Amino acid sequence: MNLIFSLDDDNKYRMRGYIDRLSRTHDGTYEIHDYKTSSYLPGQEEADKDRQLGLYQIGVQKKWPDVENIRLVWHYLAFDKELVSYRTPEAITSLVESTESLIDEIESAGDFPPNESRLCDWCEYPDLCPRRKHFYKVEALPANEYLNEPGVILANKYAELKIREAETKSELEKVREAILDYARREEVEVVKGSDCKVRVAFDEKLKFPGKSDAERLELDAVIKDAGKWGEVSELDTTALVSIVEKGLWTKDLIDTVMGYGRIEETSTVRLSKLKDEEK
Ligand code: SF4
Repeated sequence: MNLIFSLDDDNKYRMRGYIDRLSRTHDGTYEIHDYKTSSYLPGQEEADKDRQLGLYQIGVQKKWPDVENIRLVWHYLAFDKELVSYRTPEAITSLVESTESLIDEIESAGDFPPNESRLCDWCEYPDLCPRRKHFYKVEALPANEYLNEPGVILANKYAELKIREAETKSELEKVREAILDYARREEVEVVKGSDCKVRVAFDEKLKFPGKSDAERLELDAVIKDAGKWGEVSELDTTALVSIVEKGLWTKDLIDTVMGYGRIEETSTVRLSKLKDEEK
């Protein structure tokens, strides 16, 4: 059932929903049914906070203002289980307010970072989404054009080199260990090759407990108690970024600190296997 309604009287916050099934029981209660095929079964608390069916209830009440009782029913088919929830007038008021403010937030946003989820399979904008548009672009290509598409060539080359890099890294580590063994055994510091030489050095280094070692807190306390902390500590800029991004300090202090901060572009290239449905 197609439901079109507004959250407000000025028609500013318009909504559209499709109810799987609406029924009426003998005592006049309306039931809004939703059929889920998901392999995840939420708890009662999640059902009581679910936005979708709460909004359907608002739509039904707008369409038939004389309806008094509404029951929200989810049918989790994979579990053969029903979840039922009721909304108080206060819960409905709060849902209207939070949805209106969410709509305001979305409408005022200038940046729309992609947020991948199970809903991507129903998304109508794969040709615009930076996470999907290359899939969309190359899916329609015949095999000969697909393999010559520049992005496909680069991704394949990158994957090939990364595999070789991993193999080389593990081989390199084995050879390194073998050279160290050889140098110890033969008591040499330089090992000669055909047109190369490998210099080996053995040294002893003083080490203190690392951040995750049990004794570390004790050591920190010893140095702090001695009043020497300032001589061995320095600013943790990663922690500072996290504090600023989460706004954990006062605005004045964050503004002052931000006077020293700058935005730099960073890049990440991460390789992973295609999921079956992406092939
Ligand atoms: S495919 Fe659609 S829903 Fe998924 S991240 Fe991209 S824009 Fe968002």
